[in-house]
Amino acid sequence: AGAAPLLSVRGLNAWYGESHALHGVDIDVHRGETVTLLGRNGVGKTTTLRAIMGLIRKRTGEIAFDGQDLMRLPLHRTAYAGIGFVPEERGIFASLTVDENLNLPPVVAKGGMSTEEIFGLFPNLKERRNSQGIKLSGGEQQMLAIARMLRTGVTMLLLDEPTEGLAPVIVQHIGELLMTLKARGMTVLLVEQNFRFASRVADRFYLMEHGKVVSGFPVGELSAHMDELHDVLGV
Ligand code: ATP
Repeated sequence: AGAAPLLSVRGLNAWYGESHALHGVDIDVHRGETVTLLGRNGVGKTTTLRAIMGLIRKRTGEIAFDGQDLMRLPLHRTAYAGIGFVPEERGIFASLTVDENLNLPPVVAKGGMSTEEIFGLFPNLKERRNSQGIKLSGGEQQMLAIARMLRTGVTMLLLDEPTEGLAPVIVQHIGELLMTLKARGMTVLLVEQNFRFASRVADRFYLMEHGKVVSGFPVGELSAHMDELHDVLGV
């Protein structure tokens, strides 16, 4: 029931060479939702994001985004479809300044934020606008990586472990940012190892094991799933 999901993934398989990494992943993300993929190292969370974006060539299944067939879309067109990926390694340009990093990606959709809007959301980036990427802290780099995507106007973000390696106070800032983006209607699919962070920002969870989604539930049912989470994650 209800509106069609913004992103719908059905029976997604993916391979690294001969190595079969995803075994039929099913995921739905509705407009405005924040959904978190949880699971131990190596179960295929990053691979799921990469396969959705078309960064993994050898893939089968169905991926529909906002009425478009992502299986038929080359990688360089996915941003134009309205979906943006922030990889774990962040992908900003180390030798370029914050300003230059923000102005490099093309604005692909109407909702692309101006630099001033971005600086309203990220006051610390404004202070650092003339600093090179390499001079930024890990938290500032993560903020810049997300900000670049907001500049393009995508309506959905795929975020791979945005809190990785960041101090607790910065993790809190990222959490507040995600709540602000949610209030503005952004849709997010998040991979996270930090369960406490994930449980603050997510509306729903999917649990992954061995290249498959084994369970899915809304945040309101978290307490009923604690045994399962303990088994799958050790939390
Ligand atoms: P992590 O949190 O460690 O990134 P993950 O759940 O995101 O874990 P993936 O990185 O998606 O897991 O890895 C899924 C499987 O694919 C693992 O067995 C991993 O060893 C394998 N794999 C990942 N990247 C490659 C690659 N470039 N080439 C070959 N195998 C890979």
